Amino acid sequence: MVIVMAPGATQDDIESVVEAVGAAGGEAFVSRGVNRTIIGLVGDVERFATLNLRAMPGVADAVRVSTPYKLVSRDNHPDRSTVTVQGVPIGPDTVTLIAGPCAVETPQQTLEAAEMAKAAGATLLRGGAFKPRTSPYAFQGLGEAGLRILADVREKTGLPIVTEVVDAHDVALVASYADMLQVGTRNAQNFALLQAVGAAGKPVMLKRGMTATIEEWLMAAEYIAQRGNLDIVLCERGIRTYETATRNTLDISAVPVVQRLSHLPVIIDPSHSGGRRDLVLPLSRAAIAVGADGVIIDVHPHPEQALCDGPQALVDGDLDELAQIMQEFPKLVSRTLTTSPSA
Ligand code: PEP
Ligand code: MN
Repeated sequence: MVIVMAPGATQDDIESVVEAVGAAGGEAFVSRGVNRTIIGLVGDVERFATLNLRAMPGVADAVRVSTPYKLVSRDNHPDRSTVTVQGVPIGPDTVTLIAGPCAVETPQQTLEAAEMAKAAGATLLRGGAFKPRTSPYAFQGLGEAGLRILADVREKTGLPIVTEVVDAHDVALVASYADMLQVGTRNAQNFALLQAVGAAGKPVMLKRGMTATIEEWLMAAEYIAQRGNLDIVLCERGIRTYETATRNTLDISAVPVVQRLSHLPVIIDPSHSGGRRDLVLPLSRAAIAVGADGVIIDVHPHPEQALCDGPQALVDGDLDELAQIMQEFPKLVSRTLTTSPSA
């Protein structure tokens, strides 16, 4: 932490800061400039934060220089991590396609969507059984019955399952079926849920909160990591802006920014960001080109009948092009498409 003294700060003001820091177990290094004095602090930043140094006489500003997310930061972990879900890697050497229906509706619909996903090159199946719907009147998901359908489709297709958990009380239940737990944008700062998924012993996909800064997103990941789980994949899914032409604004720059700050893999959800079928393939190309470690895409055999997010689901006719993107684009960034461990 660095304390910037105001231009008129007195010697007494400077000494008071040095004393307060010393009393908190830290060390203060005073550097006097022509107009201003800067004091560098070494020690426990969290303890300094409780001192309220910014309010002391003569202090102009207190600036934190170390990151408030230690475990997920790249500072102490320079190599980027690979998270493995039942043998399927998500990390810096590969591009992983995760695809499936937004919501599990019926056994037939889920199986058909999984087969579509697999045909396009997906190695993980997405599908929600517990749906975090904005409207309480909208389809809320099939709950445990949906998890059973997913487990059955996993059996038939060999695709491991990524599925959302919306309530800390359901973590054990969802983890007993899921291969990877998803935390959605609406729960991205539900700290009790983050701690519970951190303790569940399964890899986690953490979506970015729709109004979360990158720092807030990484601090949310830190809650999971603090419980001993570093198998975390971050997912950029668009943020709220003034733009209404798309459902959310895909923050494509978040990918390289986060990859510099954190060692965790980062994927993009072009379906929930654009919210429109016609944007999913262009945004997928952009995602791979910018260096995302994977994409997660909604597919549906009959989107006009979908109970959730039909307008953004890819259909059969889109699959050849999706498969082609997945074959060609990873090569452009010196990566390979993740293949199934059993293939
Ligand atoms: C989803 O992936 O089904 C979902 C609800 O996404 P988000 O949390 O990004 O809205
Ligand atoms: Mn959805």
